[in-house]
Amino acid sequence: MKKLILLLNLVLFGSNCFAFDIVYPKKNDVTINAKSTFFIGSSDKPLKINGQDVKLHSSGGFAHVVNLINGKNTFIIQSENKRQIFVITKPEIKAICNLPQQFIKYSKNKYFDVVTENAPLRSTPVNAGINRLAHLQRNILLTIDGEKGGFYRVILGKNFGWIAKSDVKQTPENIIPAELSGYDYVDSEEYFTFIFHLNNKVPFEIVESDPMVLKLYNVKDNPDNTYIMDFPVSEALNGASLSGYSGEYNGNDFIWKIRKPQTINHKKPLKNIKIAIDAGHGGSEIGAIGCLGNKEKDVALDIAKLLETELKKRGAKVFMTREDDNYIGLKDRVDYANKEDAVVFISIHSNALPDGTDPNKISGTSIYYYYNQAKPLAETILNSIVTQTGLNDDKVRQASFAVVRNTNALSILIETAYLINPEDNAKLIDPQFQRVFVQSVADGLESYFSSHHKM
Ligand SMILES: [Zn+2]
Repeated sequence: MKKLILLLNLVLFGSNCFAFDIVYPKKNDVTINAKSTFFIGSSDKPLKINGQDVKLHSSGGFAHVVNLINGKNTFIIQSENKRQIFVITKPEIKAICNLPQQFIKYSKNKYFDVVTENAPLRSTPVNAGINRLAHLQRNILLTIDGEKGGFYRVILGKNFGWIAKSDVKQTPENIIPAELSGYDYVDSEEYFTFIFHLNNKVPFEIVESDPMVLKLYNVKDNPDNTYIMDFPVSEALNGASLSGYSGEYNGNDFIWKIRKPQTINHKKPLKNIKIAIDAGHGGSEIGAIGCLGNKEKDVALDIAKLLETELKKRGAKVFMTREDDNYIGLKDRVDYANKEDAVVFISIHSNALPDGTDPNKISGTSIYYYYNQAKPLAETILNSIVTQTGLNDDKVRQASFAVVRNTNALSILIETAYLINPEDNAKLIDPQFQRVFVQSVADGLESYFSSHHKM
């Protein structure tokens, strides 16, 4: 009886008293195919993993890297009053023999209709990366001359593009090149707008160069059936930076809109600037989990709300894609910002790392963009964050994330810092640090608009 009570006490003691908490790996008995992984979590007592001391941050957070060998790896995590065993399996690597896919050229061109809204037209037959030439609406007619793997090759004048087979459907009709009967120019306070009158929807491409170039393909009476229009962007914008454009069909009319520069009040550079703030993840989509158990969705929302207050204080018109713990689709976030005609779209996230890396050695802020028009904004904001917060400069990078693949606004994604780096995690949840962080973002925005738009 005495023994049983002692055992009961031990069990209760062990489960009631907080000792350590592992947030990654998310569960015991996982398969990880990497040469190393890490235990992420927090502890209020000294901790050993397989007899090795775990370095604890002053917040209690830790990231402890462990090497993996092929087969089963057993890890004993031990503090004064708690012991947990993890088994991680590293699979034997089998040689995979992938035959390179061959291009098959058709003897006769085929004709296809786009059946997916916003189907990506790509420069290479690869379903990833910085290779999008345009996003095509439904019912745009394409001429196809061959295929490779999951893609058809699309004839674009003298050049080619690629479209996923699942985004198109063959149509029996031959495409007679479309007819362009002319265009109208509409001037408004905010946009230069060109309306091209076509008798059919044709594939298009907009190139962010100076001049900006619009190409409408499969248009007759033009060299290579390609109608080209140059827009002298730096001259038209009076030296200001490009800050949003769009190209889309309304019926068979193709509408090309280029945003005019923002008029800047030099005392309040963000006055009346429309800014969409997007707190990443939400609801069932948690995002990354920090050493201290913080969820990315919550940290992102806290920082997004502070940024909202700060930008409103500086006169900006702010739109929030979410204001509470709700799941919102990526496309809905972008559509909402475009509906409000936002000039800037800022998505707030915090970062994690894959197996095989050391979360103690990688930290800081990175900012992602997809279209070149957003790069100067990303650089200016990152510079401001790094200078004012002391966070590590984790670089401005171009990446194909859905929320930054939007040309209507200057679209960027801020990875505030690494939730799985113990030092970054402690900072990210510190209210004082969060305030300095959002001020540095707001300062970066002010400095961008002061130097890239007209006074
Ligand atoms: Zn995220």
